[in-house]
Amino acid sequence: MPELPEVETIVRDIRPSLLGRRFERVSLSHDDVLRGVTRRRFLRRLRGAAVHDVFRRAKHAVIDLGEQRLIVQPGMTGSLVVHDHLLPPEESRYAVLRAELDNGRELVYDDVRRLGTLLLLDRPGWDAYTSAIGPEPLERSFTPEDLGAALAGSRQAIKKVIMDQRYLAGVGNIYANEALFAAGIDPSKPANRLEPDDHARLHAEIRRILEAAITSKGSTVRDYRTGTGAAGRFQFELLVYEREGEPCVQCGTRLVGTHEIDGRITVFCFRCQR
Ligand SMILES: [Zn+2]
Repeated sequence: MPELPEVETIVRDIRPSLLGRRFERVSLSHDDVLRGVTRRRFLRRLRGAAVHDVFRRAKHAVIDLGEQRLIVQPGMTGSLVVHDHLLPPEESRYAVLRAELDNGRELVYDDVRRLGTLLLLDRPGWDAYTSAIGPEPLERSFTPEDLGAALAGSRQAIKKVIMDQRYLAGVGNIYANEALFAAGIDPSKPANRLEPDDHARLHAEIRRILEAAITSKGSTVRDYRTGTGAAGRFQFELLVYEREGEPCVQCGTRLVGTHEIDGRITVFCFRCQR
């Protein structure tokens, strides 16, 4: 699933094309991507709505339509692109949501496997939704002490906790693996056993890596595409993710892969990460 840097890239790409525009014809190919809203209500609210703002929260692209907010959480095979013209049928086979803009362009959420979700929330609904998500790691106000305070509340493995959106927003499997390696922290270590020194290193590495990944327009390990339909480039800079069995770039020890921490693949160096 696209993580913070990928969704941030998508938002930065599509925002200029959407600001101030109005949705005209809107269509939805399948209802199974909708959460908490019926197809009828969803389409009725979107038709004619004007785009006030586009921003990211955690792994969601949020399109502010004034009274309502359309929240897109792209799935593994999901892409959100503004096309210059209406897509012909052969290019829109996997288009789930299509929204024609008042200038002849088209916003398309495409998702072969339909693992992504679409929500439509009013202001109180959005406030409740966003308040259940943890702090944004790239906010200037987010400090190592904030990270430490969040981690003190859990005895679960540190990797699992930093991927838990209630504790920290936007970090998923790729960037959790990378940040823990860069910070030299064992991914299975209980979150509440980290010291202030660990909080400082992990905080710095999470921010550094997320920023670098945004600069490289995200990681295209499989299907992820930017808001213009291009591939990202940060996959070439990943040091542990998908490198199980390869030598550690710091000490040469063979990197270990395990599914034992959270069911997802964790790749780490048992010499460099304590
Ligand atoms: Zn190592």
